[in-house]
Amino acid sequence: MFSTLAATNDDDALNGTALPSPFLFSPHHDDVLSISMSHESALIKPHGPTAVPISALNNLAYGQYSESTPSSTHNGDVSDLFETNGSHMSSREDRDGSISSGLVNGHERSHAPSPLHISNGLQHPHLNGTVSEANSIGSAKQNGPKSIARTANGITAAPSSTSSRKSKLHMFNHNQMTRSPTEMGWDAKFSSTPELSQQDNPGGRRSGGATPIKAIAGELRANSSIPAALSWEEFARQCILAAESSRLNPFSLHPEEYKLLREHITHPQVTIYLNIRNAILRLWTRNPLVYVTVEEAAGCAREKRYFSVAKVAYYWLLRNGYINFGCVEVPNTAGSIPRIKAKGGPRRTVLVIGAGMSGLGCARHLEGLFAQLGDQWTEQGERPPKVIILEGRPRVGGRVYSHPLRDQTRSTIRPGYRNTAEMGAQIVTGYEHGNPLNAIVRGQLGIPYHGLRDNTILYDHDGSKVERSQDILVEKLYNDILERAAVYRHKPATFRVVEGDRNLILFGRDPSDTGGATIATLESSNTPLPAGANTTASTTEEKPSTGVEKLAGRAYQLSAGFNPNIPAAEAVRTMGWQLRHDASNDQSLDLNKIAQSSPHPTLGETMDDGIKQYQAILDLKPKDLRLLNWHHANLEYANAVSVNQLSLSGWDQDIGNEFEGEHSEIIGGYLQVPRGLWQCPSKLEIHFKSVVKSIRYHSEGNGKGKGVMVECTNGEVFEADEVVITTPLGVLKSGSITFEPPLPNWKQDVIERMGFGLLNKVILVYDEAFWEPNRDMFGLLNDGERKASLDQHDYSTRRGRFYLFWNCIKTSGRPMLVALMAGEAAHYAEASSDSELVQEVTDRLSKMFAPKPVPLPSETIVTRWKRDPLACGSYSYVGPKTQAGDYDVMARSHGPLHFAGEATCGTHPATVHGAYLSGLRAAAEVVESMIGRIKVPAPLVEKRIKVEPSLTPVSMEPKHRLSFDGRITQQLRDEDYEASIIGAILGQIGERPIKPGRAGVNPFLLYTKDYWYKCKADCDASRKAATGDPNAKASKTEIRTAIGLMWRTASPEVKKPYLDHTQNARDNAAAYAATFKDRVATWDREAARIRQEYIQAHPPPTGNEDMMNSRTAIELGTGKRLRRLGT
Ligand SMILES: Cc1cc2nc3c(=O)[nH]c(=O)nc-3n(C[C@H](O)[C@H](O)[C@H](O)COP(=O)(O)OP(=O)(O)OC[C@H]3O[C@@H](n4cnc5c(N)ncnc54)[C@H](O)[C@@H]3O)c2cc1C
Repeated sequence: MFSTLAATNDDDALNGTALPSPFLFSPHHDDVLSISMSHESALIKPHGPTAVPISALNNLAYGQYSESTPSSTHNGDVSDLFETNGSHMSSREDRDGSISSGLVNGHERSHAPSPLHISNGLQHPHLNGTVSEANSIGSAKQNGPKSIARTANGITAAPSSTSSRKSKLHMFNHNQMTRSPTEMGWDAKFSSTPELSQQDNPGGRRSGGATPIKAIAGELRANSSIPAALSWEEFARQCILAAESSRLNPFSLHPEEYKLLREHITHPQVTIYLNIRNAILRLWTRNPLVYVTVEEAAGCAREKRYFSVAKVAYYWLLRNGYINFGCVEVPNTAGSIPRIKAKGGPRRTVLVIGAGMSGLGCARHLEGLFAQLGDQWTEQGERPPKVIILEGRPRVGGRVYSHPLRDQTRSTIRPGYRNTAEMGAQIVTGYEHGNPLNAIVRGQLGIPYHGLRDNTILYDHDGSKVERSQDILVEKLYNDILERAAVYRHKPATFRVVEGDRNLILFGRDPSDTGGATIATLESSNTPLPAGANTTASTTEEKPSTGVEKLAGRAYQLSAGFNPNIPAAEAVRTMGWQLRHDASNDQSLDLNKIAQSSPHPTLGETMDDGIKQYQAILDLKPKDLRLLNWHHANLEYANAVSVNQLSLSGWDQDIGNEFEGEHSEIIGGYLQVPRGLWQCPSKLEIHFKSVVKSIRYHSEGNGKGKGVMVECTNGEVFEADEVVITTPLGVLKSGSITFEPPLPNWKQDVIERMGFGLLNKVILVYDEAFWEPNRDMFGLLNDGERKASLDQHDYSTRRGRFYLFWNCIKTSGRPMLVALMAGEAAHYAEASSDSELVQEVTDRLSKMFAPKPVPLPSETIVTRWKRDPLACGSYSYVGPKTQAGDYDVMARSHGPLHFAGEATCGTHPATVHGAYLSGLRAAAEVVESMIGRIKVPAPLVEKRIKVEPSLTPVSMEPKHRLSFDGRITQQLRDEDYEASIIGAILGQIGERPIKPGRAGVNPFLLYTKDYWYKCKADCDASRKAATGDPNAKASKTEIRTAIGLMWRTASPEVKKPYLDHTQNARDNAAAYAATFKDRVATWDREAARIRQEYIQAHPPPTGNEDMMNSRTAIELGTGKRLRRLGT
């Protein structure tokens, strides 16, 4: 029999009472599996019968279905433990000689092991709650933290009691890790400037003649963060990637940077600023385990006179959460309050309401900023402010909640990870191109995740499989209608940007002449922009207009070049459809009428009209209608609402902000991420079960005492100076929190205009999988209200019922399906009983998998997010009345009230990363309201006195040397010319494809990773028995020998998962390598053509004819120093 667990009162279900609970989830869930055990025992003796990881998967039929190749599993940082040379903390000379950028481009899997990670597969105990609180980082510190100090330029040094506290980073207790960095051989590489750490290594690759640059805390040294061993273009490439990975345009100022700098900076200086800013980001993205210091930031400047520029860039990045964010320990600059000001030593309070991703992200960043900018308070005679979180639930995470399953005794995932079900967020939509979770999940917490493969197959309502060809044909038709409806999309706002010199940035070069009027002066005087304005001009830029992805089970990519004027009949004929006999070749759709029929047209009505009009062109069958409606359901999942309630013009207003890389799921539960933010590096102060009911505030500040009073339903009252409200939009809409005075109309109106939708899940746990275990998801078509109907209206109520099943066997720990209830079906789930839903889904699955019998699930969980008073729904959407820019209005502060949460993040709404980003934004606002904007020194750039060749590593090579009168040598002019050719090439065809690396996976190493600690324990025990010494430990060589023997004598069943894993990795690498050759060949051909054309159009100023046939390192993809090679 199965047990059902209604999400709204699972608290009571667990406690065996029937009383309705105000909480969606149990207050005990986080503790329910807290197994009290010593850290040591937790590491050595993974409990339960599943001590051998992965072996449970042996029962599953790998490769049984040819279509469904297994998707990838990423074992957090641990997968890279054996590639010490590949750590992004080292300079990592790549297989092909080029230096890759580690975390930056995400192609690398070579992340450094996190200090939070326990490398036998038990990740940090705080993250999933499997181990008692006694094993916390906090207690690790009490046990005697071993601090790793590094000097300002990133050189790791032994802790010194005499060195300044400010120059140290106290890392977590590495004794808590089963493998210390020292054991792994990278103790000298804890640095944001990894290259520098190698200066101490005599075998390191400092370029000849370079004097090791060492800086001490507080001392600023130009160039000290620019690795001499990197070519300028490789350095530039890494900086550019770092900016892109931080959601910043490497070639232009962010609008906020523009506002901050416009009165202080000239156009050429923009390039200098961007070079420095991108270089600081490079430091951070290469190693987000370690904070970037202001000294390191200054080391990104090529000349001393740019130190102020570097500082402004640093503080802008710091405050706005582009660097030093997440679970990273930061230095505390708060000194003692000067005696003259010490009287009273007041302390301001910031209250954060809600411990979801936005609240935790905000509070964690505030803590970091208050520490790093602490002196700004102490110098005023104040103590740095304190941060308190008020959370209504008994747990963190909010809409990220991994509910522990009842059966924890058997598991399909590695020991130490809980068997859980994702009640809320589940999918990470790509780590690359700017997802802040990249740094947190992969870079800091080292949480394993499972990469999803979009290999959805669809089942028809009667259980038969939909033919792939029909699926593809209908999907094309659907995309065509979506594209035609996209014509009515709001034009994205254009905004003014100031660009740097793209060619110089591409080559990592600063302009030689930086003088002139500031941007503001030029703008106000209407002076024409400098000659060559395409390189240093102010321009306007539009957002890109491609991409629709969101969280849907299948991605929709709108093509930039779609031409809605192509007649519909012609378009569908090209797709492979046959026209009706009475349709003409030039017949098309007219969506104007429906789009203009209402002041608030919806996407659904418009598309449905499109489908109807297509029915006059095509002989659509009921199955086509079911397929089209499956795609509607998929959009309803992405938007948590029926397409009939989505704004036609704005539903995808976040378009173009998608991340890249495979979508994935967190192994052992997404909740590990908010738990990490809460606990690491030290616990944030959270008051649980504190449901806020009223907020009294002075919008202008009352001048005395705290301006805000917050009252909770349990009677607690808190006073604060600033409050960050992160409660879901649904809660704000419900009015359960009263504001005194009421929120102004502009805020209240936007709360009403914005949409807050619903998505629910029916989670089914089984003893065995009856589906294809390697297929990550499969879809199910629904019939209309009237059977086999050809009328679109008949499909809206039912199309979202169990329309998609996620197979979570690789992430949840048990054979589990998560069925989605999207659109109107989400409301149906709220109104139906668990048993009705389970019966219905079991009938559907029985048809799909017949003749296999489908049992009732052993455990079922149904979410009902609408009933949850602390959520009141799932996530925000753009409703018909929502106006362009409403997300930003939601985000706008009002007096001491600040707002965060997914519904305040217009660029990434309805997501975990969007929520997190909103928290960072709110933290920056709070700090600004307390200490004001970043102060830009005047003058920002000091006048050049003379060029000091010895200051720059560039000068180490004669060809880069500037002559003393500042004139550029012929060689430099050639290089400038080369730079413009490269600019033309990169501008047209982008970067040369990067050579793929080896698969780098070895079955024995994988096995070793899993068995090392078990083997170590056995060897230690033998040693103790042999020597009689209770503290005896086996040597590494003994353990290695023993584990080698274990592997050689292991049964084929034990070896199989490791061999399979290795084979899969090799296959994937081979597949990638095969396409790589073709792509490179095409790129090379194109690059040669563009070079020739460029030279013909712009003959070389120095008359150097050789250039026609030469190629630079970028064109050769070698990443070596710029050199010209004849071909
Ligand atoms: C079913 C579902 C599936 C989803 N799937 C995905 C996905 O796959 N990928 C993805 O990126 N995103 C997904 N999301 C969206 C994602 O979960 C949210 O966007 C994100 O978690 C929101 O974070 P937040 O901090 O804005 O809000 P929340 O996480 O809701 O945090 C707000 C906190 O405020 C607390 N609170 C509320 N009212 C009060 C009060 N009066 N007093 C005190 N505390 C209060 C709440 O308890 C909560 O902890 C999904 C959401 C749902 C519901």
